[in-house]
Amino acid sequence: MTESTDVRALAGDLRDRLSWLKEEGFDTWAQSAPPLAIRSRSSASLPRFTLEDIRADLGDCQRCKLASTRTHVVFGAGDAQAELMFVGEGPGADEDRKGLPFVGKAGQLLTKMIGAMGLSRDRVYIANIIKCRPPQNRNPQADEISSCRPFLDQQIAAIRPKVICALGTFAAQTLLKTQTRISDLRGHFHDLNGVKVLPTFHPAYLLRNPGEKKKVWADLQLIMTDLGLSLPGKS
Ligand code: SF4
Repeated sequence: MTESTDVRALAGDLRDRLSWLKEEGFDTWAQSAPPLAIRSRSSASLPRFTLEDIRADLGDCQRCKLASTRTHVVFGAGDAQAELMFVGEGPGADEDRKGLPFVGKAGQLLTKMIGAMGLSRDRVYIANIIKCRPPQNRNPQADEISSCRPFLDQQIAAIRPKVICALGTFAAQTLLKTQTRISDLRGHFHDLNGVKVLPTFHPAYLLRNPGEKKKVWADLQLIMTDLGLSLPGKS
C-alpha cells in the first residue's frame, strides 16, 4: 500500500467514525473533559492466573442457584491483555443462548460505542459481574454475587486493564461497593485496587433514553484521553 493510499484509508476511517457519531447523537466530541479524580493505591494483590486457568476452574459452575436455570456460563470475551475492560451486570437471553457477553441489542450499541472510540471488540475485554443469566433478567442476588465475584476479580487481575468502564448502576455500585447513584458516579474516575474505574450508563438504558448518549460519549472520551487514544477531530 502506498503512502497516499494509507492516508486515504485513514481519512475514510475517520469519516466513518464521525458520521456514525453524528448519526448516534454522539456529537459533542469537542467538549472539554472534566478533571480526573483518582486516588492511587497499590495494584491488586490477587495471585495472577491466566484467563484459561480461571475458565477451567469455573468449569460447569454450580456454585450458586443460577446454574439451574442458565443455558451457558458467559465467561467474558476479548483481548487477554486489553487496556480497557467493560463490565456489565449479567447475561441476558441472547447472551445466555450464545455464551457470549453483550451480543443482543444493547451489545450491538456497545459495539458501536467501542467502534466510535477507534477500537474493536477484539481489542477490549468484555465481562459481567455475574456469569449466568438470572431468571426473567431479575437483579442478581447477594449470594449469587458473592459466589461469582471472585472470578471477575481474578479476570481483572489476569488482564490488568488500565481502565474498567462499568456499565450501569448495578455494575458500578457492585464493583465500587457503594450505593451512590450512577448519575453521581459517572463523569469521573474511581479507584479499584489501583485500576481506574469509569462508570457510565448501560447501553440498554441508552436504548430507552437516547438523549443520554451525549453523557456516555463524554465518559468514553475521558477513557480515550486516559489511554492516549485520538479523539475524533483532534490530531
Ligand atoms: S453465576 Fe457465577 S457462581 Fe453462579 S453458577 Fe454461574 S458462574 Fe457459578
